[in-house]
Amino acid sequence: MPEIVNGGIVIVGGGQAAASMAAKLRAEGYDGALTIIGEEPVAPYQRPPLSKAYLLGEMPLERLTLRAPAYWAEQNVTLRLGEPALRIDPAARVVHTAKAGIRYDQLALCTGADPKRLPAALGGDLGNVFTIRTLADIEALQPQMAAGKRLVVIGGGYIGLEAAAVARKLGLDVVLVQASERILRRVACRETADAVRALHQAQGVTIREGTGLRTLRGEGVVDSVELVDGTVLPADLVVVGIGVTPSVRLAEEAGLVLGDGIVTDAQGRTSDPHIWSAGDCAEIDLHGARMRLESVGNAIDMGELVARNMLGAAETYQPKPWFWSDMFASKLQIAGWNGGYTRVIAKDVDGESFWYFREDHLIAVDALDAPRAYMVGKRLIEAGSDVTPVEIEAAADLKSLMRR
Ligand code: NAP
Repeated sequence: MPEIVNGGIVIVGGGQAAASMAAKLRAEGYDGALTIIGEEPVAPYQRPPLSKAYLLGEMPLERLTLRAPAYWAEQNVTLRLGEPALRIDPAARVVHTAKAGIRYDQLALCTGADPKRLPAALGGDLGNVFTIRTLADIEALQPQMAAGKRLVVIGGGYIGLEAAAVARKLGLDVVLVQASERILRRVACRETADAVRALHQAQGVTIREGTGLRTLRGEGVVDSVELVDGTVLPADLVVVGIGVTPSVRLAEEAGLVLGDGIVTDAQGRTSDPHIWSAGDCAEIDLHGARMRLESVGNAIDMGELVARNMLGAAETYQPKPWFWSDMFASKLQIAGWNGGYTRVIAKDVDGESFWYFREDHLIAVDALDAPRAYMVGKRLIEAGSDVTPVEIEAAADLKSLMRR
C-alpha cells in the first residue's frame, strides 16, 4: 500500500500553467507545502519554441526550461516528475500516483492537452510519424530533420506551418496537406491565411488545401502519403498537427463538471470547491462565450490568477488573448480574440496587418512583421476603444489612432 504524504497545495501537470501558479503562490507569500506532479520526467519548460527555435536547433535546453533546477529547491517546491497522477479521490482529498497518495488542501488541474493522432487504421502507428507537443516528441523528430529528406505535414494550423518553416530552413522538401479549404481556417481570416501561404510558398513549401488524407503507407516505417484525390506523396517522415484534445480524464473520473474542457467559474474554480484548473484544459468565459484558450499567455495569466484566488483574492479572470508565430524570418503577432468577426480591414502600413471587427467593434488584430500595428491594436482592444473601421482604413500613421 503506497504511503500517504501531505502535499499542501498540489498542482497536477508540469507545464506553463503549473509553473506560473507555483511561482506566484510563493511570490504572494504562501509558505506551506507545495507539490507539482508531472507526467513528463523533466522540470517545467516552454512549449512554444518546440515548433520554432528549439526544433531548428537554435535554442539550448537551458533556455527552454522555465526555471533553473535550483529555483524549485530554493522555493521549497516538491517536484514529483515522471510520476503521472493516476486518480483523484475528491472525498479524501488525495491524488494517487504509482508511488504515493498525496493529500491536498487545495488542488489545481493544469493537465493541458494532448495532440490528436492519426488512427492506426490510417497508418498513424507507423515509424517516422511525429507529433509536436513535448520535449520527447522533439528528441524523436529532430534527428530525422535532415536536408534532402521529404517531409509531409498533415494539418495547416500553427504547429503544421511552423514545423514546415523549420524543415524548409533545414533543407527538407516539404508538402503541407490541409483537409478543409484553407490553412488557419479556425484561427485566422482569409487575408492572414493568404499572407502566410505566400510566405511559405516563396520559401518552397508546397501547400495542398482542400484535400484530405486517405492513408499513410509503409512497411513499419512511413514511405508515402495517399490523399483522397488519389495523389501519392513520397515521404521519409510525417508531422501530424491536426489539433489537440484537452486532458480531462482525471477530472472526469473525479466527477467534475466538463464542457469543452474542465468547467471553471470566473475565479478558476471547478465544480469541486477544493479543486481549481488553469491553462489549455480549462474551460473559461471569454466575452460571454464558453471556450478553452489554447495559448501560453492564458496558461501564465490564469495560472497566476488561480494562485492568488487560492490565497483568497477572489479576483475574476479577464483574459487578454495574445499569440505569436515565427515562420521563416517573419513574426505573426495576434492580439485579441477574433471569434464572431464580421469584417476585416487589411492595412499595409509598417508591415501587413488585419483588423477584425464584430460589427463596429474592434476585437482582434493579426500583425505580420508589423510590431507597431500589434502594439497599437493590443492597446485599443484592451482599452475597449470605439475606433471604427473607417478610421482604421484612413489611418496613414497607426500611432495616431492612440491619440484620438
Ligand atoms: P489547430 O490550430 O487546431 O490546427 C489544426 C489544423 O489541422 C487545422 O488547420 C485543421 O483544419 C487541420 N486538420 C485537421 N484534421 C486534418 C486532417 N485529417 N488532414 C489535414 N488537415 C487537418 O492545431 P495545431 O496546429 O495542431 O496546434 C496544436 C496546439 O498548439 C493548438 O492549441 C495551437 O494553438 C497551439 N500552437 C500555437 C501556436 C501559436 O500560437 N503560434 C504554435 C503552435 C502551436 P480545419 O480547422 O480547417 O479543419
